[in-house]
Amino acid sequence: MRHTFGSMSTATTAGGPGLPQERRLVTEIPGPRSREMFARKQTAVPPGIGTTLPVFVTHAGGGVVVDADGNSLIDFGSGIAVTNVGNAAPRVVERVSRQVADFTHTCFMITPYESYVEVCEKLNELTPGDHEKRTFLVNSGAEAVENAVKVARHATGRQAVVVFDHGYHGRTLLTMSLTAKNMPYKHRFGPFAPEVYRAPLAYPFRWPTGPDNCADEAAAQTIDMINKQIGAENVAAVVIEPIAGEGGFIVPARGFLSKIVEFCRANGIVFVADEVQTGFARTGDLFACEDEGIVPDIICTAKGIAGGLPLAAVTGRAELLDAVHVGGLGGTYGGNPLACEAALGVIETIQEDKLVERARRIGEIMLPRLRALQRRSPIIGDVRGRGAMIAIELADPATGDPVPAGEIAQRCHAQGLLALTAGTYGNVLRFLPPLVIPDHLLEEGLSILENILGGDNTV
Ligand SMILES: *Cc1c(COP(=O)(O)O)cnc(C)c1O
Repeated sequence: MRHTFGSMSTATTAGGPGLPQERRLVTEIPGPRSREMFARKQTAVPPGIGTTLPVFVTHAGGGVVVDADGNSLIDFGSGIAVTNVGNAAPRVVERVSRQVADFTHTCFMITPYESYVEVCEKLNELTPGDHEKRTFLVNSGAEAVENAVKVARHATGRQAVVVFDHGYHGRTLLTMSLTAKNMPYKHRFGPFAPEVYRAPLAYPFRWPTGPDNCADEAAAQTIDMINKQIGAENVAAVVIEPIAGEGGFIVPARGFLSKIVEFCRANGIVFVADEVQTGFARTGDLFACEDEGIVPDIICTAKGIAGGLPLAAVTGRAELLDAVHVGGLGGTYGGNPLACEAALGVIETIQEDKLVERARRIGEIMLPRLRALQRRSPIIGDVRGRGAMIAIELADPATGDPVPAGEIAQRCHAQGLLALTAGTYGNVLRFLPPLVIPDHLLEEGLSILENILGGDNTV
């Protein structure tokens, strides 16, 4: 590793896919400039806003993130599944640049503009199911989920909401209440919103009677809980991530989601798919629900929808969304014109650059290498995921107890690989590379993981 402290000889003037697609470490991680800015962060920003890796970014694109010291890191995070099309993706940059010079805001509820409508038309067309749909736009994933519950309650006249173990839905009062994990999301932030009920998730790796019975038993327990504790006729919505994201990329045992959907249909319950993390080509389908042929009544999207500009959407059956009175939904910034242009650029990029197929290919490259690594590295209890949403779960081979993943993530960071952790027990390493990452960086990132996890000093 070269150490040329403070050298900016490698600095570039623009991000995006034109950035050199290489891992390059010119200082230790974090370098002196980042450390200086981090010290400022520590006095200006409260510690509640955590930091996974304290390098300060100046450019990003393709499969790399470049920091203020000139280090170029391999990106296995995509800013938490947001920059699926890459950072500063050309079609996004072009559309947003044009829009920012034309107008930046009118408030869609005051004087509308075409790009908002176009994003809604596209989502109505691209989301699962060919029934008549409506879409409205908000700013964040949490806001989308919260609005989905508002719509479901209004349309059904019912109050209860059923969510699942390991679920994550956001940090507002309602979505924090829907979220399963106490630390760090809920701790001392109560009291929580009422009428939220939690059911078991079909988590194959940790299901007490083993993965084979998992789908049937988890669905039966969920239905039993609803009938006994709530009464199906009191349930407005079931809200679930088709693959649990923050919970550790838990792919529910096959058949579980279909059984829950069937129960919802039979009982007039709105089935809400929270595809905030799984959406927009991430899993090798445009939406993760497609894998099992699930057609949600309402689908929430955000993160990958607009290449990093704040945008989220609620898409659902026309009769549900149309039930709400005029003026009952909205917000000042929802569907901001810059974010809408970005979303249109994202959708074009996914379609024209065939990023759904690319996500599948990324899974085909990652899964076999990680499964081979699992055979050499006993602390890897499980390798799972779909497309470019892949994780490994660390567990003590003797007891199955979770082994925290934080230290492994830090060792990746020190070597120039940006990897994230997840999981209710913090024992999952999750990989979310931008779909435009070149193969050689993907392979190099995997080699770093193999070096760290494949030796005999693996804990
Ligand atoms: C990130 C996330 C949210 C919350 O989105 P924000 O934009 O952070 O509010 C909700 N649901 C899921 C599944 C997420 O991954």
